[in-house]
Amino acid sequence: MPAKIIDGTAVARAMRADLEPQIAELKERGVTPGLTVVLVGQHPASQVYVRMKGKACEEAGLRSDTIRLAETTPESELLALIDRLNADPCVHGILVQLPLPRQISTHRVLHRILPGKDVDGFHPENVGKVAAGDPTGFRPATPYGVQQLLVRSGVETRGAHAVIVGRSNIVGRPMASLLLQDGPGGNATVTVCHSRTRDLPSVTRLADILVAAMGKPRFVTADMIRPGAVVIDVGVNRVDDPRKKKGYRLVGDVDFEPALGVASAITPVPGGVGPMTITMLLYNTVQAARQ
Ligand code: NDP
Repeated sequence: MPAKIIDGTAVARAMRADLEPQIAELKERGVTPGLTVVLVGQHPASQVYVRMKGKACEEAGLRSDTIRLAETTPESELLALIDRLNADPCVHGILVQLPLPRQISTHRVLHRILPGKDVDGFHPENVGKVAAGDPTGFRPATPYGVQQLLVRSGVETRGAHAVIVGRSNIVGRPMASLLLQDGPGGNATVTVCHSRTRDLPSVTRLADILVAAMGKPRFVTADMIRPGAVVIDVGVNRVDDPRKKKGYRLVGDVDFEPALGVASAITPVPGGVGPMTITMLLYNTVQAARQ
């Protein structure tokens, strides 16, 4: 039987509907949750992401604001802007879109955002809270979305062996923290793989839940998947496709069609993890406004 397709778009829609009463309640108290996104430069993918984030906020009734700065902006100017946003009571969440131009230290910028407004969850205080299982910490949106996708799709994580391929601070590491937590969507036995992992297929084949987050198009082939495993494909990769108007299409890190015949459930790309990421950013912004 082919794998069940986990529909991230549908789950994201349901989760956004669930958020509506919380937003309405805040508004009744005179608080409109507000997210300010800062984009430095003209990175094409970043521009798309920033537009999508702004649109999602508006649709949900959140106040959203995008500040666009020139590619040549000095670091001191960006830090001064963050200080102003930190002090602005109407701004509940601050998100600085990555990557940043070379002259700016990502590290210094992410550390400057007040932890209580760091809805991306990249400040070390939030990283620590998430690692320690403290629910007041902001969970990075992508792994948070993966966790919710598993919970809402009825995938039992408790006692399952979850194998994550990728150890980035944005996806792989926080994913491991969340799956390890004691609670719904947690209590898994977690293995994290990376580019130096020896004999990767022998490790991925042990997974009940396989999370691919490496940024390598269709790298995870059917023979790397244990029959019946749940496969979550975080990867978003552009591959040339002359049949498409844009000249490319998006594929994940998993070779999707063959994997359908092995996995019990799988997320598509697009339409899997992507819509969840933006939804969880809305959740974090509402959490910031409540806190
Ligand atoms: P990074 O490039 O920061 O990290 C990739 C990770 O994969 C690294 O830990 C790297 O190992 C590991 N890796 C790379 N090649 C191999 C290999 N051959 N074998 C084993 N491990 C390998 O990427 P991100 O975590 O930022 O993103 C991963 C993917 O997820 C990308 O496609 C990105 O576009 C996508 N993404 C999607 C989002 C969404 O909303 N859907 C959001 C964020 C990201 P090492 O550390 O040893 O180098």
